[in-house]
Amino acid sequence: MARPDNGSQRTVMVARGAPLVRVEQLSHVIQTRAQRTVILDDVTFTVPAESLFAINGPSGSGKSTILNMLTGLDRPTTGRVLFAGVELRAKRENALARWRGRHVGIVFQFFQLIPTLTAAENVTLALQLGGGGGVPRRRWRQRALECLTAVDVGAYADRLPSELSGGQQQRVAIARALANDPPVVVADEPTGNLDSQSAHAVFETLASLTERGKTVIYVTHDRELAARASAGIELLDGRVVGSHGMEAAFDSVAPAAPSAEEAGQ
Ligand code: ADP
Ligand code: MG
Repeated sequence: MARPDNGSQRTVMVARGAPLVRVEQLSHVIQTRAQRTVILDDVTFTVPAESLFAINGPSGSGKSTILNMLTGLDRPTTGRVLFAGVELRAKRENALARWRGRHVGIVFQFFQLIPTLTAAENVTLALQLGGGGGVPRRRWRQRALECLTAVDVGAYADRLPSELSGGQQQRVAIARALANDPPVVVADEPTGNLDSQSAHAVFETLASLTERGKTVIYVTHDRELAARASAGIELLDGRVVGSHGMEAAFDSVAPAAPSAEEAGQ
């Protein structure tokens, strides 16, 4: 797939290997009348641009909670998330939604495709909701076909999700995540609901996105899958108990300043 010509829309300019996402002393506590539950405890890490980054840990260790903080779907109790030097917390709710549409594509364990829409329509819906990624409406179908073809499901553009295998559905979901050409793709247990053969193939597709300039952050409880990453953290009970591959990010200079448009949001 050719990189779409939408340079004016690209708001993140961070060199490969430089810090793209910084998570600083993130804690998340849920307080009910009966008890106080610490979900994340002082989590700090850096995601290098264009890396394949794994968040690994057993079920209940806080992986999904971290992803929700990274995408701004949830806010931490303390600490901060910086995206190319811009703090997410500072954005208002609808600016955050706009930001998310442009900067992050999300892939879920259970695909979450709209069952009444075809593969191509699922992708064009993301364009509609995400502002079109700089692509004019008359080219949305073409853009959807490009995204589907890039992840090897171009032939199924006009099928409904129910007419596709699990692996094919997850590829459509990856195509949808690419629709607005975001710099980051996050995936929560993206192969957790697939048989081992399609899991392997879908993971390869996800990993290959780094060669197209994407930063891919994935959550997995599977150590073998986590070992495929170029960088990552290991979580246990909401704490970081191991990390690797972030050196490149620490060595490099400060992230690029946000664009005027970004700073204004
Ligand atoms: P993972 O994705 O690693 O399986 P999660 O991030 O989903 O873990 O959850 C981490 C921990 O936080 C779990 O013990 C979970 O039960 C708890 N948790 C998550 N959300 C809530 C909530 N809204 N209220 C109470 N506990 C929660
Ligand atoms: Mg989870």
